[in-house]
Amino acid sequence: MAKYFGTNGARGTFQQLSPELVMKLSQAIGLYFNKGKILLARDGRLTGETLKHAAVSGLLSVGCTVVELGMVSSPTAEYMVRKLNADGLIIITASHNPPEWNGLKVVDSEGIAISKERGGEIEKLMDGIEIAGWDKTGKLRSHEGSAEEHIEEILGHIDVDKVKKKKPKIVLDCGNGMASVIAPKLFSSMGCEVIPLNSHVDGTFPGRPSEPTEANVKEMLALVKETKADAGIAWDGDADRVVFADEKGNFVIGDKVFALCVILKLKEKKGKVVSTVATSLAIEEIARKNGAEVVYTKIGAPYLSEAVAKGAVIGGEEVGGIIFPEISFAKEGLFASAKIVEALCTKSLSEWLKEIPEYRNIKEKVPADEAKAKKMITAAKKYAEENKLDYVDIDGIKINYENSWVIIRPSGTEAYVRIFAEAKTAEEAKELIKKHEKIVSGE
Ligand code: MG
Repeated sequence: MAKYFGTNGARGTFQQLSPELVMKLSQAIGLYFNKGKILLARDGRLTGETLKHAAVSGLLSVGCTVVELGMVSSPTAEYMVRKLNADGLIIITASHNPPEWNGLKVVDSEGIAISKERGGEIEKLMDGIEIAGWDKTGKLRSHEGSAEEHIEEILGHIDVDKVKKKKPKIVLDCGNGMASVIAPKLFSSMGCEVIPLNSHVDGTFPGRPSEPTEANVKEMLALVKETKADAGIAWDGDADRVVFADEKGNFVIGDKVFALCVILKLKEKKGKVVSTVATSLAIEEIARKNGAEVVYTKIGAPYLSEAVAKGAVIGGEEVGGIIFPEISFAKEGLFASAKIVEALCTKSLSEWLKEIPEYRNIKEKVPADEAKAKKMITAAKKYAEENKLDYVDIDGIKINYENSWVIIRPSGTEAYVRIFAEAKTAEEAKELIKKHEKIVSGE
């Protein structure tokens, strides 16, 4: 089992993910990718520069060629993997975590992020690393202009003339993260009137915390109202996830952004939709209406990417990370937002949102150590089996009812069991959680 790698790569505070550890992990990553050509990118966190040098040193010491992309968004770096024919990529980023955190996101030559399981294989290589001979260490190069190449790719999939004609006014809340280095340029190039907010890179995140929750993006919502903009967009720290504000300044949560992207995608191309077991029934309903099938995966971006790579037209998770295989197998917060802005030129965002079936999702966590968590999962499975209910056990236990579901699953990182429920109303979802909490707690 992986010690450092979780569902989102290796993450920790600077004390936990120290330069020494990053160097060792990078040596192992270099060996995992057969001493090949490895791209290296980072976000704007204050510890990024230090950890970058540790990663460069680790990779070069085992004989890899390192190509530095500099400070770019995660989707940009992930797009560049296939473009530059690289054998792998390391992004030094902690995504939406607090500023004292950092992390290593590792991506393979296909552009698929390394899962916890593959992370475990990398960690095995950490024992007994053999460094290269003095004349066999790797070469360090840099590649500039990735953001521009990424913008060009995105524009190739957007009807720019249509956007230029309409010239929508868009508030861009980059949260002082990596969207700052690409979003204002991208949306200006599309022909939007851009109102930037928190759009300079600052690793202390002075504008707002980097997780784009409704509470954290209040300033963006207010600015949309104040400026009578057509929409507002806010990204997380590395710009792979995105949330919106409609033209009235109402918050549009990540699962609605995903649902809207599925509607837009299925209008232009039919095919499979990939999603995690925690995704809204709205996706299932939209897919069914369009004659498409939904393929479910475990919760975690790497599992989504792996499934999309096997053949799908779109993939996504409920927190607003959406994969478009025409760009890459990574969550694409920039392309997703560009697609939605393109759609805004046909009708307003609030009008589009009316096409999404209404469901309410409630999440709860119950404190439980490993032993208790196991008991709860077993109890959930037993309950489902005894009552002949429709259930899936690919990630915890998900019980499907008519127009609602419940998931009982242990947290990957904390001593909790999470219980999620979705139903047509919040009351119904709360009732489902209450009922199942009792059942699995043996009360
Ligand atoms: Mg992220």
